[in-house]
Amino acid sequence: MSGKVYLVGAGPGAADLLTLRAAAALRAAQVVLHDDLVPPEILDLCTASAQLINVGKRCGRRGRSQEQINALMLWHANIGCTVVRLKSGDPSIFGRLGEELDALRRAQIEFEIVPGVTAASAAASSAEITLTDRRTASALVILTAHNCRGDNLRATGLDPQQSTFAVYMPGPDYARTARDLVSSGVEPNTSCVLVSQAGRRAGPERNSERSCFMSLSDLPFVMGVQAPALLIVGEVARATERDKLAGSRDVPLPRLDIRETSSLLSS
Ligand code: SAH
Repeated sequence: MSGKVYLVGAGPGAADLLTLRAAAALRAAQVVLHDDLVPPEILDLCTASAQLINVGKRCGRRGRSQEQINALMLWHANIGCTVVRLKSGDPSIFGRLGEELDALRRAQIEFEIVPGVTAASAAASSAEITLTDRRTASALVILTAHNCRGDNLRATGLDPQQSTFAVYMPGPDYARTARDLVSSGVEPNTSCVLVSQAGRRAGPERNSERSCFMSLSDLPFVMGVQAPALLIVGEVARATERDKLAGSRDVPLPRLDIRETSSLLSS
């Protein structure tokens, strides 16, 4: 009898941002095929007898091809193992999930997808901003720096001034990312925030998350950003209210009309 494959989102890299369902799948796994971005504190949830296989491509290693990853997944499932294919963030976002689903369907192997907190959500929380805003951002565009060139974006028919762009893998050539966004119609003075190590407050890299607010025209001069990093571009990244409050003690608190408030409470 063949086993089952769980395609699991590990979240942005902190065990306390893992879903309970993901943690249960990891505890039940006999084989875990994981990416590089998944930290040891998450792999620690696996049992001692689980076989952990790093199939990532970083740290100068060439990593395994997608075909080899698919083959490993199918082979272990075919001999009856419970397999977890563990990906950073959410498996459906820039995780080659489609190719793995095709392989599993062709081989008629049972599978289940477990969603995870994607880097854009973690980055927005870390920078204390929203991704959509009914006043200024009616669309959220998820893209990688490798596909944010003019034509692709223009083809969406979106108004760049009313959209938020969550750019995955924005570096290391930040000048090119900025240029591509501008050539797609995003104004150079548009606000943006580069968030590195979003969500990673627990574990050995305690509080390593950093947010750097700027305008798109400053992006080419960014240096020393610790990977992984994500770029959020749009009005939502304007550091307005927060900066006003932090920069001046004279900003008056909004006045509450006591009568209005008490009528709200009693209604
Ligand atoms: N499936 C993942 C994305 C994989 S692509 C997800 O849903 O998040 C890998 C890219 O995601 C990185 O190059 C970086 O741009 C972004 N990323 C992943 N984890 C991150 C983190 N903790 N902080 C900032 N960006 C992150």
